[in-house]
Amino acid sequence: MTAPSIYVHIPFCEQICFYCDFNKFYIKNQPVDEYVEVLGEEIKQVIAMDEKPSIETIYIGGGTPTALNEQQLKQVLDDVNAAVKDPAAVREFTVEVNPGEADRGKFQMMRDAGVNRLSIGVQSFDDKLLQKIGRGHSAEEAVETIALAKSVGFENISVDLMFGLPEQTMQTWKHTIAKTLELDVPHISAYSLKIEEKTMFYNWYRQGKIQPLPEDTEAEMYEVLVSALTSAGYIPYEISNFSKHGMDSEHNKTYWKNMEYYGVGAGAHGYLNGVRYANIGPLPHYIKAVENGESAVKEHHEVPKTEMMEEEMFMGLRMKDGVEADRFQDKFQTSYYEIFPDVIHDLTEQELLYDSGRSLHLTEKGKLLGNEVFEKFLLVY
Ligand code: SF4
Repeated sequence: MTAPSIYVHIPFCEQICFYCDFNKFYIKNQPVDEYVEVLGEEIKQVIAMDEKPSIETIYIGGGTPTALNEQQLKQVLDDVNAAVKDPAAVREFTVEVNPGEADRGKFQMMRDAGVNRLSIGVQSFDDKLLQKIGRGHSAEEAVETIALAKSVGFENISVDLMFGLPEQTMQTWKHTIAKTLELDVPHISAYSLKIEEKTMFYNWYRQGKIQPLPEDTEAEMYEVLVSALTSAGYIPYEISNFSKHGMDSEHNKTYWKNMEYYGVGAGAHGYLNGVRYANIGPLPHYIKAVENGESAVKEHHEVPKTEMMEEEMFMGLRMKDGVEADRFQDKFQTSYYEIFPDVIHDLTEQELLYDSGRSLHLTEKGKLLGNEVFEKFLLVY
């Protein structure tokens, strides 16, 4: 069986952000050329193994793909295109971009390779805050990068923002939202900070050097965001994602719809033939495995049907369209009311869920307490 989407991981960054727990490495002195070559091998082994698949969405993420030089990034894009049955039929081809890391030549090369969507890691328009979270760019560089991307012809641009950051104020958050709206991009993602283990923030938090914002301030920031973006014409099609003119992230929708996808690169995750897998993270081990013609997969998990149903609920509820009754029935030959009668009943009583007749959705209150709602579906089995 083949999957409709591909995720490619580029694990290098020009600077390591204090909050980040992704599989990434400071690029200096890393074997980047070797990684690009080996990644091309893995792409061949995993994606174009027998017959080239028909692919609808491709996402090059990281790390930071634009930490690669133009030639290295071109090689990755060419290798992915070569593994796909019909590159011209790919509907959405996204590359993550960090402000200040792509010049006109790099952007033009991406367009020539079929990239039609950029996801730009802006995070904030407050320079002091950018420094405090360890970003390597200024607010001005973000504005310039977006203007440059547009001038090269990119229309489908997404901006990533963060809120709930230590020392972030409501005033600076409102300023960031206002500056983002001025950019007139069709897609905005906004995530609240989670202090993850193995990050600088985690160490500082344990040492009492930083404090997360109070939960109610973070909730208020989310409400301010939703209000400003919906007033400006954006549709909150997923809890953390907002789009105009129907320019939703088609690739991310495959995750929320619990669909399968190829994942390649060091530390990448994938989901194929009912099996979720994670690749080896450390570069030397990943490179050695692929060079030896071995699988880069470190661990895999065959997903039982019960778990698929749980995932279907908590991923699907993130979206405005919710979990469609017919889709659930077709996929699992049963109804969600059969599987989760008490959970759905209790959450509906608490006004966290509602049934539109065709699908189940989070209420506004449910969106604010999303994780608590999702957990309920995990506790069933
Ligand atoms: S947030 Fe992005 S740029 Fe920053 S360290 Fe993580 S992967 Fe690299």
